[in-house]
Amino acid sequence: MAHALVVGAGIAGDTLALLMERDGWTVTVAEIAPALRAGGQTVDLRGDSREVLERAGLLQQALDCLVPQRGAAWIDARERRLAEMPVEAFDGRGYVSREELLRTDLARIIHEATGPGVTHRFGETVEALEDTGAGVLARFRSGAEETFDLVVGADGAHSRVRALRFGPEENYRRPLGLAHAWFTLTEGPGTPPLDGWFLTHNAPGRRGVEARPGHPGQQEVGLTFAADTLPSRHDREAQFALLERTFAGVGWRTAEFLAAARQADDFALDTFDQVHVPCWSTGRIVLLGDSAWCASPLSGLGTALALRGASELAAALRAAGAPGDTSRTPAALTAFERTMRPRTASAQQLPPGRVASMAPKSALGIRVNALAMRALQSKAARPLVRKAFADSEHGRTGAPAGEPRTSPAV
Ligand SMILES: Cc1cc2nc3c(=O)[nH]c(=O)nc-3n(C[C@H](O)[C@H](O)[C@H](O)COP(=O)(O)OP(=O)(O)OC[C@H]3O[C@@H](n4cnc5c(N)ncnc54)[C@H](O)[C@@H]3O)c2cc1C
Repeated sequence: MAHALVVGAGIAGDTLALLMERDGWTVTVAEIAPALRAGGQTVDLRGDSREVLERAGLLQQALDCLVPQRGAAWIDARERRLAEMPVEAFDGRGYVSREELLRTDLARIIHEATGPGVTHRFGETVEALEDTGAGVLARFRSGAEETFDLVVGADGAHSRVRALRFGPEENYRRPLGLAHAWFTLTEGPGTPPLDGWFLTHNAPGRRGVEARPGHPGQQEVGLTFAADTLPSRHDREAQFALLERTFAGVGWRTAEFLAAARQADDFALDTFDQVHVPCWSTGRIVLLGDSAWCASPLSGLGTALALRGASELAAALRAAGAPGDTSRTPAALTAFERTMRPRTASAQQLPPGRVASMAPKSALGIRVNALAMRALQSKAARPLVRKAFADSEHGRTGAPAGEPRTSPAV
């Protein structure tokens, strides 16, 4: 029986494991975290995401987990509205769409759909990968060694598979100049309710504070700021100190959020990067998802591309006769890249002003941004924006599914 190793149990890795198992592969998934990773904000169910989940028979489960939302609003430090974009503004398919669920729920649904043909090894990763011609010999952190017919690096933007077989991260990482911390806040008796609104407060100096609806009794919080490099991921104290310095005096609920960050189980901090790898495979080793093509959260397309990529890779392997015959696996990986690369290249072209509008530099920039959000909903602009959203759902323009292509430069 053909045996594949997938490194990383994220959306890309688990979707691929599920689809390959259904095709008759035996799949081992090595995930470095001790359990399936929770956390993350909402992802929408348009375009590629919907199509792939529907074909996998998981769409209804995803729809059962939708987060009720009323729209997005940009606020000042006293929570007065500078601009609003209700869910209905673009027929439920705009900046905040009618059909969004938490990344956590989507990852769980896909993970739980895998059957006995998929073995997850948590707390595990690869230390070395050697292509022997007939297979790939993997040496694991636990000391185990095993040969696989295929190895997939679905281990995210900081991929170890990529570092082991394609070269160091700095060769492929393109920082966008912003960093983002995110975590889940558990509401207490005094927590101000969001009432279904995704609120963003921007402060001068490229600082943004967001809270959006999560599971009942929870809010998903984000802090965005200017940075290309960060303290080590293992030095939590240095990370919190940086956030506290950067967001001092920002107002609104920022002090409450900074305190809550320290209590959160799913706190994470990372830079907004893109990943550009000129060739995604070598022999029987291939990169998938953010490890190959991270377009950054600013694209709004990370999950859709992960789902589509997993589906295209499974299809390319099937078309090459696998798992019955794995002799054409390297050619299948090349075919997969040929199909997938135009979509990822397009998603990586962020609309002009996208980075600046996420975290404006000045008070004027913040006001211009709010005006632009209102202008996008004017009678004159609405048809164009609606078309941009519709195009982005189908990957034609590369416009982010969650953000108008015309977001202003400020
Ligand atoms: C917990 C979490 C929260 C996220 N939240 C958001 C969000 O709020 N907004 C947003 O836009 N994007 C978010 N993302 C990123 C988003 O999920 C991805 O952009 C997209 O789904 C592509 O997924 P991926 O499977 O390629 O990568 P990822 O979702 O990053 O998954 C990679 C997986 O590989 C694992 N891994 C990493 N290194 C190793 C290693 N050396 N060995 C084994 N396993 C390894 C990780 O723990 C993770 O489970 C989040 C990702 C994670 C993991």
